[in-house]
Amino acid sequence: MKILVINAGSSSLKYQLIDLEDAEHFSVLATGLVEKIGEPVGCITHKTFPGGVERKIEEQEPLPTHADGMKRVVALLTDEQDGVIRDVNEIAGVGHRVLNCGEEYSDTVEATAAVKDAIRRYFPLGPLHNPANLMGIEESEKVFPHARQVAVFDTAFHQTMPPKAFMYAVPRQWYTQYHLRKYGFHGTSHKFITGAAARYLGKPVDQTNIISIHLGNGCSMAAVRGGKCVDTTMGVTPLEGLMMGTRSGDIDPAAIEYIMDQTGMDIHQMLHALNKESGLKGICGVNDMREVVDKSAQGDELAELALQMFTYRVQKTIGAYMAAVPNLDALVFTAGIGQNSFPIRKRVCTGIEHLGVTLDEAKNLVRTDAPHEIQADGAPLKILVIPTNEELQIALETKAVIEGNQP
Ligand code: ADP
Repeated sequence: MKILVINAGSSSLKYQLIDLEDAEHFSVLATGLVEKIGEPVGCITHKTFPGGVERKIEEQEPLPTHADGMKRVVALLTDEQDGVIRDVNEIAGVGHRVLNCGEEYSDTVEATAAVKDAIRRYFPLGPLHNPANLMGIEESEKVFPHARQVAVFDTAFHQTMPPKAFMYAVPRQWYTQYHLRKYGFHGTSHKFITGAAARYLGKPVDQTNIISIHLGNGCSMAAVRGGKCVDTTMGVTPLEGLMMGTRSGDIDPAAIEYIMDQTGMDIHQMLHALNKESGLKGICGVNDMREVVDKSAQGDELAELALQMFTYRVQKTIGAYMAAVPNLDALVFTAGIGQNSFPIRKRVCTGIEHLGVTLDEAKNLVRTDAPHEIQADGAPLKILVIPTNEELQIALETKAVIEGNQP
């Protein structure tokens, strides 16, 4: 079944066309990124894989709206010479990544009028993403009228958290009236990792207990007990929790007023600083983990401090989530840093041997796209590295909705 996965941002559109049977039998037909929608010149990068070899097409042209971007994507997908499908009607479903739907949906659902209304109601809780996500669905309905449109929420996997984990200790009315609570994000990735870890461990998902550690530009962890999320680090927005590339993660909320008073910043400037100028970048000036590691190796003290801070928060959260997940099967590292950065995995796993975490240094250096384990022989706890695949998870869930099986 051919499923198109769409992640619509405010000025961008990421897509992937996948032909899939199940989590282990699929092929990616095309991937692409449309950027700078609404700017004088937009860009499209479109990749196909004829005979297993990557073929890249790059285009630059004005793309005033998402609709224009979407039309170009259709033209590229169906191109007579280089297209991967003959007709848009070959696409059975379009799976849309949607940031937040509050507590209204805890599963992937068809993007009906009611679902679109709910996405709209949650605009205030996802002001940058939800409007773009909704626009993606509405444009896709026009361009792919025969395909089923499905919404996959980044918060859904975390809806199993108990109130003791998702409530903030603030006046209760903030929750009852304004829906303020921890929602958590990266849910699609943590869910994929849970399924992949269960397959790797040879256990039913509902008996799988892991701590999922997603370290990319955005970073989050999830405590997964019996296949279900019982706690996660991100909050009502993706700003809470771990230190990230440019996001602060946890900070005393009273610090905000103090610094605003000292600097004269307004709240928008403050949130910009916490989202875009903090994290690794705030401490050492760069947010790409490869650069931070290189700078530290060259003796840069601030880069070293940034690495220590980044690592320590992950370690503390491993400790916390061990309290939340009895009979833990494994720690699982994923995403750009988790999958690729040997030094960061080593730092995270060093000094917490008393928690049963012992790394095998040679296994940690193995680079493979297959799930693999990197703990020392005889260590009490497995440490896994599993590449995440959010697009595949969205495609799988979209297929399940189309076939009438809830994922
Ligand atoms: P996003 O959250 O944007 O999806 P990614 O999961 O792609 O982010 O992760 C981006 C991060 O992964 C960057 O900090 C980058 O430095 C890091 N990264 C990517 N590849 C490597 C690598 N080979 N070694 C170390 N870090 C890497």
